[in-house]
Amino acid sequence: MAEPRVRVRYAPSPTGSFHVGGARTALYNWLYARHTGGTFVLRIEDTDRTRYRPGALHDLLEGLRWLGLDWDEGPDAGGPFGPYTQSERVALYQEHTNRLLAKGAAYPCYCTPERLSALRAEQRRAGATPGYDRACRELTQRQIAEYEAQGITPVIRLRVPLEGQTTFHDAIRGDITVSNRTLDDLVLLKSDGFPTYHLANIVDDHLMAISHVMRGDEWIPSTPRHVLLYQAFGWEPPVFAHLPLILNPTGKGKLSKRKEKGPDGRDYLVMVHEFKQAGYLPEALFNYLALVGWSYGEQEELFSRAQAIAAFDIGGISKSPAVFSYDKLAWMNGVYIRQLTLEDLAGRLEPVLARAGIIVGPSDALRVARLVQERITTLNDAPALVDFAFREPAEYDPALLIQKKMTREDTLRALDAARDALEAVEPFSEQALEATLRPLAEALGLKVGQLFGAIRVAVTGRTVAPPLFGTLELLGRDEVVARLRRAEELLARQETPYRSPDTGN
Ligand code: GLU
Repeated sequence: MAEPRVRVRYAPSPTGSFHVGGARTALYNWLYARHTGGTFVLRIEDTDRTRYRPGALHDLLEGLRWLGLDWDEGPDAGGPFGPYTQSERVALYQEHTNRLLAKGAAYPCYCTPERLSALRAEQRRAGATPGYDRACRELTQRQIAEYEAQGITPVIRLRVPLEGQTTFHDAIRGDITVSNRTLDDLVLLKSDGFPTYHLANIVDDHLMAISHVMRGDEWIPSTPRHVLLYQAFGWEPPVFAHLPLILNPTGKGKLSKRKEKGPDGRDYLVMVHEFKQAGYLPEALFNYLALVGWSYGEQEELFSRAQAIAAFDIGGISKSPAVFSYDKLAWMNGVYIRQLTLEDLAGRLEPVLARAGIIVGPSDALRVARLVQERITTLNDAPALVDFAFREPAEYDPALLIQKKMTREDTLRALDAARDALEAVEPFSEQALEATLRPLAEALGLKVGQLFGAIRVAVTGRTVAPPLFGTLELLGRDEVVARLRRAEELLARQETPYRSPDTGN
């Protein structure tokens, strides 16, 4: 018999921003679908109206698209098992609840919220595990009719077996068994007619022909209940695989939804959009996330999407919690930045520069890309490296112009000569600039470091800046000449002829 086709799903609830933990779940499901030639379904689990957050869905779809996790079936893509948004499927859940009621596998419960919370309080006081006491499990038809006559709308609960055990096989962890006594009669349909997560999730996984359920391990306690629900319906459960927890970099505690600070005082980013805003490349985050709980090979950590697809296997997913290392991600991001073509990097830098108030055209963006490619870890590191090129240098101390073992007069002469040379050099390119300025230093009897240092301060206002010739080319002749002239004026205006602060004399 042919293997049934792999159909996996990512089933987020739009209750907040898209977290990297969710992104990892989506990624593994996506990789498994692509590896097997199966189908990746996106299903929106939005039946808990109290937790629904407008904007969350948009953030989620944006994040998935940014990471390149495309879905074959889903809310906007459509597909043969739609609709893919649970709030549009409420009638289906009600109909399936009626089937269970008809079989006696579920029952109506008329307990008021007040009674249930009093019950829980009492159980807690007595040191017992809070849970429903099954007061309505054996109501007679008469009792039911009386409640109905009072106009009370019941919730519907699953009639969980009172004895025995429920076992399910987890593809990562092996068999997991619980005693049915520890499970209470979970609610399937709420009194507002909306399903609980459990009911909607199972009905949809079945109706959407999901073959493998890969989700976070926080769902393990729910899985025996889900298995009982499958049994109640008379359906075959899918394969379950619960993904390991993601820990924060200290290895103590889970990577939280809240914003926390790392020991180094930096914010721990946790939402996908935060990584995007912080200047991470989606391909770096993709590569890194794939490794948080799965290993690609013995040693290798860098791989392309195609390589990940070819290698991905549920068997390679780890049981133990995985630590999220921001340092490793940052390193990886730098590697990916260096692998980009200049054109590609320039295109990605443009919006980042614009956000920093530096508006550049495509050709300037290319020059910026060339200047910063070897020097940045995230795209956001770029503006600070090049902003001098796009603004007048901030006020700087003219004494900085004077290099070691030079006087003010030497410096003025050097700047003047440099300005003459740069007015004439053709073309105004890195190579031609270097070919002009190196011999000029010699002609002036200066070390190249002295001449270049003076020019660097004159054009950037700083003693440390990206490579000089690229910087000059980026600025362009007019700007360079203007800034040299300004430096000369600043220096000439100084009253006292002082020496370089570096020399100490
Ligand atoms: N809606 C659930 C969530 O938000 C889905 C859990 C599952 O995959 O079954 O995580």
